[in-house]
Amino acid sequence: MKIPYSQEEITEIFRRFSVQRPEPVSELAYTNPFTLLVAVVLSAQATDAGVNKATRELFRVADNAAAMAALGEDAIREHIRTIGLYRNKAKNVAALAETLVAQHGGEVPGDRAALEALPGVGRKTASVVLNVAFGEETLAVDTHIFRIGNRLKLAPGATPEAVEQGLLRIIPQPYRRHAHHWLILHGRYVCKARKPDCEACVIADLCKAEIKTNDVPAPLHPIP
Ligand code: SF4
Repeated sequence: MKIPYSQEEITEIFRRFSVQRPEPVSELAYTNPFTLLVAVVLSAQATDAGVNKATRELFRVADNAAAMAALGEDAIREHIRTIGLYRNKAKNVAALAETLVAQHGGEVPGDRAALEALPGVGRKTASVVLNVAFGEETLAVDTHIFRIGNRLKLAPGATPEAVEQGLLRIIPQPYRRHAHHWLILHGRYVCKARKPDCEACVIADLCKAEIKTNDVPAPLHPIP
């Protein structure tokens, strides 16, 4: 599909994101690939802050697959009661810890097929783990990235997969590794769902969203 941006404009968009956040990090709290995987599983339909609050104590008790499997579903459920869908998530976390112990020596596998075969792990979760823990150039399309892809007409698509493919096609090589975080954080803090904050947007001059209310880009500097 033809998009209304030149390659130069796309490169400039991601260059500016890279100046803002040279080394973007996940806002989920984790200490190793296992705690990252669990945090991402828990984050479906929950905020990162809410997940972090619940996992602080959970990960103190169990920060590896063997300890989590030993803890068991009932205790996991008690730890994560404050998170949406906690019953189902407790079941999945217990099962995924058991599977990691039984099939992967307690380690988180670094390939997509093995990750997606784990209980409660879909394409999006696998993409986040591959990107953050294994440094792969994956892009997990969450609600923010889906909105930005469509709103800005960078990668219009009816499904997350379509937006993912569209974005992976256009994002220039040096920016692929961190595009996932840049787009999420841009969507979370600036290009928000109900009312985008176009006055605070560093790509306001380049953006082709119909909803935008400002053409002047915000000053570009690293965000502490
Ligand atoms: S100008 Fe507005 S609509 Fe466009 S990316 Fe920035 S915040 Fe979003």
